[in-house]
Amino acid sequence: MVTSIVSPRLLLVGGGAVAQVADVLAKLGLSRPLVVTDPFMVSSGMVARVLAPLAAKGITAPVFSETVPDPTDTVIEAGVALLGGLEVDCLIGFGGGSPMDTAKAMAILAAARGMDGQAKMRDWKAPAAADMAALPIIAIPTTAGTGSEVTRFTVVTDTERSEKMLIAGLAALPAAAIVDHTLTHSVPPRTTADTGVDSLTHALEAYVSKRANTYSDTMALRAMALIGPNVRTAYAEPGNEAAREAMMLGATLAGLAFSNASVALVHGMSRPIGAHFHVAHGLSNAMLLPAVTRFSLSAALPRYADAARAIGVATADEGDQAAAAKLVAELEAMNRDLAVPSPRAYGLDERKWNELLALMADQALASGSPGNNPRVPSRDEIIAIYRDAWG
Ligand code: NAD
Repeated sequence: MVTSIVSPRLLLVGGGAVAQVADVLAKLGLSRPLVVTDPFMVSSGMVARVLAPLAAKGITAPVFSETVPDPTDTVIEAGVALLGGLEVDCLIGFGGGSPMDTAKAMAILAAARGMDGQAKMRDWKAPAAADMAALPIIAIPTTAGTGSEVTRFTVVTDTERSEKMLIAGLAALPAAAIVDHTLTHSVPPRTTADTGVDSLTHALEAYVSKRANTYSDTMALRAMALIGPNVRTAYAEPGNEAAREAMMLGATLAGLAFSNASVALVHGMSRPIGAHFHVAHGLSNAMLLPAVTRFSLSAALPRYADAARAIGVATADEGDQAAAAKLVAELEAMNRDLAVPSPRAYGLDERKWNELLALMADQALASGSPGNNPRVPSRDEIIAIYRDAWG
């Protein structure tokens, strides 16, 4: 069997790495970036962490800061329209997953329009392969996180159809990533928790995925070992340098894991919640993680047991059954400690939730992610898990 492994050409990892952004561009032969970020990065002044080192090397970069949480096709269209009037040779995605994904999607849509002037974002929804030549991306995450800095994915909401589309291909894979945990010190506790559980979910789903391989396993186990023991500390002590560093590295390794395996049922079920109820991506993952793990456990007991040991809640001499049970207990405890609400406690409209269950189950199945789960659910089983997770 042949395994295909992808990762950025260059990964710069460590505190203060963002100061070397101009050197990274130079190494790739690039010099005319557009910085794609969000309004908070500009209003808070954080964007200067990228613009100042560029300016010091004589590069004045234009900034597109209209990205929104959970990027939409309409924002991507606006970004591509801006690109048309600029002479840029790369995009720097600076921020959480939303700005990084916006930069990726802009590169893909701009390249697609070069082939077909009428191309739309939804034309490139998976299973289409966005492997075309496109503007290179330099990804600089400020949350820990989506792992988008190292993945071959971008997620874009189709506003007409209320659907979060997964777009996959080499054009979405950054040419370089700068992974600097000092950029995450200002992330508020709620976002720290949501993004932290998102990265744990990536690692766990990659590890139990039917498409797991030796490379993704290595990344996933190390990611879980970094994230599991540190997520509560990063949440409770935002200035804890060691916890922030572990979380950032863990998120990037988790990104490498799922980009080279896949995500599975949690992500498949989570995207419809994001699209219909506008719940933050990491939070909707966290709401589902214990229920989906309970459902899937029996189909991959040794793998879930390994995960419990990697996180540090089970010991090497404990049997798989006991270790896997401890994993579920830990995921429930983590949600309590990180104040993750159930959909009901979060205030979602119960009638709308119940009315949408069948549609959400169809959308989850259509995304393909549930097919990678160790236990592949039927439509009715997905509906039952949504009911279980309601709270
Ligand atoms: P986000 O990018 O939407 O950011 C959430 C909030 O945190 C924003 O208000 C932002 O301004 C703020 N923020 C970011 N960095 C900060 C900092 N250092 N200090 C203070 N505030 C900060 O959230 P996210 O969870 O990072 O990304 C979510 C998006 O990523 C979703 O659209 C999701 O679908 C996508 N995603 C993509 C991939 C992929 O492989 N491409 C993987 C997982 C998730």
